Amino acid sequence: MRIKGEVLEFPSYRVVEGDYRIRLDKNESPYDLPDRVKEEIFEELRGLSFNRYPDIVSMPAREAIADFYDVSPENIAVGNGGDELIGYLVRLFEGKYVVVTPPTFGMYSFYAKLEGIPIVEVPLREDFTIDGDAIADKAKNARAVFIASPNNPTGNLQPEEEIIKVLDTGTAVVLDEAYAEFAGKSLWRLIEEYPNLIVLRTFSKAFSLAGVRAGYLLADGEIVDALYHIKSPFSVGIMTMAAVKVVLRHYDLVERRVAEIIEERERIRRVFREFTYPSDANFLLMRLNAYEFLLEKGIVVRKLSGRLDGHIRVTVGRKWENRELVEALREYLEVEGCG
Ligand SMILES: *Cc1c(COP(=O)(O)O)cnc(C)c1O
Repeated sequence: MRIKGEVLEFPSYRVVEGDYRIRLDKNESPYDLPDRVKEEIFEELRGLSFNRYPDIVSMPAREAIADFYDVSPENIAVGNGGDELIGYLVRLFEGKYVVVTPPTFGMYSFYAKLEGIPIVEVPLREDFTIDGDAIADKAKNARAVFIASPNNPTGNLQPEEEIIKVLDTGTAVVLDEAYAEFAGKSLWRLIEEYPNLIVLRTFSKAFSLAGVRAGYLLADGEIVDALYHIKSPFSVGIMTMAAVKVVLRHYDLVERRVAEIIEERERIRRVFREFTYPSDANFLLMRLNAYEFLLEKGIVVRKLSGRLDGHIRVTVGRKWENRELVEALREYLEVEGCG
């Protein structure tokens, strides 16, 4: 046999595994669900038939999410993480290529490459905002345009008027709002006005369910329907759907934790203002080449490359983790002689 083509550079293969004290590298919530909420999930599971395949179109989860937004389940699709849905969205529309806006989330290009779909890059401007006109220029022949807002790894929300410029082209726009809860702003309501808008969300970040694997999108019913025609039938299991149903009943808890994370984010940023970009998400982009230094202290962050060479992306953790991070970075600056 011969394995086909170049081996894909899957982002996670580079992720550091092992026993580090403080993991601030994957933008997870630092807070696990409280036991009482887990108990509710277990209770929900008790009544389900484990021997049967889950609902083929994930109706229990879609109904719970639809209730939460007060929309129809026909406007919701659920995946095994938002990542699974990205894998379908690069394929769902006709066109020559997908448009991405680097530096941004790597999974859009990952799935496009996996499918042999060409990628056209329209880089973010100097201030990390998207260039709506430049994207619109490329959108005409595109299958879809992927825009993350807030963007990962830069942390900034994208200007609504630039997003509108792209939406007005009529090409499918995947607006990835994985961090919207931390920004306090979402454009999901525009799906009524723009049948070409797909808003992608996840339970992995603000909702503390990264280990469960649940993501969803809000879009026009026609897109949702088409997606279910190409979707892997049973990728969303009964346990995932039970967890989704229960956490949505505890949105007050999510809000409290989001508020704490935002407070901590701003506290860290104030300390390293000179080296830290503003963030609308649960992580900070820092112009500090401190990856190895932090790793030696048992703190894992994300090392960036390319245009962001010499930068790190740091997830906001629990108070004690952030304190240790701040302390370690202060030490780094002293050693480097810039502090
Ligand atoms: C984390 C993340 C997602 C979704 O992750 P899943 O765990 O697969 O739901 C999507 N987009 C961005 C930009 C992310 O950072």
